Amino acid sequence: MYGAEEFAGGVFHQSIEGGRATATIELTASGVKAVTSTGQTFEIRYQDCALDVGGASGRMVFLRTMDRRLTIFCEDRRFPKALEMDAGPEFAEQLATVQKSRWREGFQWRMWLAVGTAVCLLCLVGGYYALLWTAKSSIGAIPVSADIQIGKAAFDARTLEGPQVTDRVVVDAVKAMVARLEPHAELKGLTFDVYVVNSSDINAYCLPGGKIVVFTGLLKTAQSAEQVTGVLSHEMSHAIKRHGLRHVMESMGIVVAVELLVGDVGGLVSLAADLGKSAALTSYSRDAETEADVTGVKMLHAAAIDPLELAGFFELLKQQQPEFTAAIQWLSTHPQHDERIATVRGEVAKLPPQEYRGMEIDWEKLQQRLQEIGAE
Ligand SMILES: [Zn+2]
Repeated sequence: MYGAEEFAGGVFHQSIEGGRATATIELTASGVKAVTSTGQTFEIRYQDCALDVGGASGRMVFLRTMDRRLTIFCEDRRFPKALEMDAGPEFAEQLATVQKSRWREGFQWRMWLAVGTAVCLLCLVGGYYALLWTAKSSIGAIPVSADIQIGKAAFDARTLEGPQVTDRVVVDAVKAMVARLEPHAELKGLTFDVYVVNSSDINAYCLPGGKIVVFTGLLKTAQSAEQVTGVLSHEMSHAIKRHGLRHVMESMGIVVAVELLVGDVGGLVSLAADLGKSAALTSYSRDAETEADVTGVKMLHAAAIDPLELAGFFELLKQQQPEFTAAIQWLSTHPQHDERIATVRGEVAKLPPQEYRGMEIDWEKLQQRLQEIGAE
């Protein structure tokens, strides 16, 4: 439908003042007609017309005479379609070819942009992980005082799981177990403080820095002082291997990584205080649990306590598990006991011969005392 549509565009021709003018463009039966704002009319017949597409937007259509003296151009989005319909199939082909080559250039440009963007993103992500990795691998450079501060903040923020037991017989027995292990801790500078709480939960945990909480349920369930010492060696190993600190760094990500690298633990301590209210500081990955078992075994061996006592405690829990039901807190954070029994046995097999001697604790007396103070 010729003449039905008008498009805004322009003309280049030497007869126009300045060589260029805006124009209204119309497609006629024989060609493209342009009427400039000053009333000059130009026309190019389809058979004399060369087509090009370009301009800053890549959408500008240029129609030129073969001698290139006259150019009519239009950027209207509807124009190529109208041209294709009105000017016939040969012209449509020319338009398609030109557009395709333009599109290909555009595609290449877009592809390079995409590649560039991807490279930048990779650098950012890579940088992020490199920083995290650096922070994690430089954990040895972080002073132990950071662990102690984190542990203290977490301890102050949490409520003890039961009334604190201050009975000397009970507390001194646990302290004696810790004291036997402490000289064999491979990380120096930790302060192992002991807290006993009256709770039937069979549980114990050690916060970063060394604050140890032991539940009376553990003391009443274990069959010997050596079994409890075995559990304590595992818990102390979490602090020695700085699993809490690692966990905080993993949960908090980049901010903490940077803080630790620049040696600022202030922010970390307040974050740990929040974490301490939840179980996040004392729940670890399976790898960390295995490492704590292995480290615990070595520490028991060095302290001349039979490391198989730790495996013995796992076996006890395994046998009695149906009766204990929900009270076995320690088991719920320490699953896969068969695997762990195997780990402990495997580690023990690697150790040189050692003459083990038991804890100098009157186990009967301790049990009696627990009864007397009404331990749950
Ligand atoms: Zn553990």
